[in-house]
Amino acid sequence: MTNHIAVLGSTGSIGVQTLDVARMHHIRVSALTANNSIRLLEEQAREFQPDMVAVLDEEAAGQLKIALADTSVKVLGGQEGILAAAQHEAADTVVNAIVGVAGLLPTLAAIRAGKHLALANKETLVAGGSIVMQEVRKAGVNLYPVDSEHSAIFQCLQGCPEGALKKLILTASGGSFFGKTREELSHVTVESALQHPNWSMGRKITIDSATMMNKGLEVIEASWLFGVEDKDIEVLIHRESIIHSMIQLKDNAVIAQLGTADMRIPIQYALTYPQRLPSPAKELDLAEIASLSFAPPDNATFRCLPLCREALQKGGLYPTVANAANEVAVQMFLQEKISFLEIAGMIEQALSDFHCDKQEITLEEILCADKETRMKLGG
Ligand code: NDP
Ligand code: MG
Repeated sequence: MTNHIAVLGSTGSIGVQTLDVARMHHIRVSALTANNSIRLLEEQAREFQPDMVAVLDEEAAGQLKIALADTSVKVLGGQEGILAAAQHEAADTVVNAIVGVAGLLPTLAAIRAGKHLALANKETLVAGGSIVMQEVRKAGVNLYPVDSEHSAIFQCLQGCPEGALKKLILTASGGSFFGKTREELSHVTVESALQHPNWSMGRKITIDSATMMNKGLEVIEASWLFGVEDKDIEVLIHRESIIHSMIQLKDNAVIAQLGTADMRIPIQYALTYPQRLPSPAKELDLAEIASLSFAPPDNATFRCLPLCREALQKGGLYPTVANAANEVAVQMFLQEKISFLEIAGMIEQALSDFHCDKQEITLEEILCADKETRMKLGG
């Protein structure tokens, strides 16, 4: 079990819930980071008394330094500051709750510094899975999934003998627009896309859930975490978000993990593995829920999931390109510069404009493909 954590992206949805878990189980916190939310970061610093905090925005870091002048908390700014937090010597585990591919270099810095990783930042694995998994093996550190589906699979796999796994079944809520036609989707608003039926999350992942891109990213994430090919990862719509995912074994037995939709369960398991400790999450009452429903995904209407599968099959830099195009497109949608359906359109365009069959890729090539895709799309 972890004794001492650094939390990257502590001011976000996952970051705040990670600190709930740390508070409850008296896990010490050595470093916290944010992009620019310095008011919340100051509150967190005063409560948890980390050795250091880092803010990506240099100007905001300067303001926080003044605000925390009466404390012993060191304040750093810029990317250097975030990387220093990722390598902070007192932490044994780094929780990466940064959103987007911005989490990739901090993930690598943490691994190279010998830290175990509790990874919420799925874009790290989508864009840089091959490098990250190599570095994890080289450093001999543990990589604990925080994403609820992947935590569910990790939990189902406990006690499962090697070679017994047949396939993964990732469940998906279907997001805000499940059941809608393309015609209906052509004029949905940002506000309606941000209304997730079951989970309260950051804005980017909520849009990713509405487009089903989130499930596409998760198929790629699962392929790296569990060494499973695209064809052995099934996606199943399950509106209630009670079954967080399942595994099917060689004998066709299916094992599922269930619980209320509360991210503090998977976050806590990543921090206390293999222990099971009390949780602030509510108990599951299946009699009250009464029934659970399932349906296949509608890949003709929601194009992002099949596009991610295509990128995963092509391998190499294609997932990096799909992820970068999505990050730009989601930003543009949130700024009301493009329509909802154009998100998938931009990803499809970026993938069809990209030509590179190289499978062995370097970190420099990943960063370059990410940057070039953004530039082409005006991000
Ligand atoms: P939020 O947007 O709520 O939080 C993101 C955090 O990252 C904030 O602390 C933010 O700081 C910081 N941040 C943003 N941009 C940068 C940057 N360029 N460099 C460094 N830090 C940055 O996101 P979520 O918590 O919802 O999601 C975090 C990750 O976890 C994502 O990868 C998401 O897909 C994944 N995830 C989230 C789930 C959820 O329930 N929320 C569930 C499963 C996975 P600031 O506050 O200053 O902007
Ligand atoms: Mg998930």
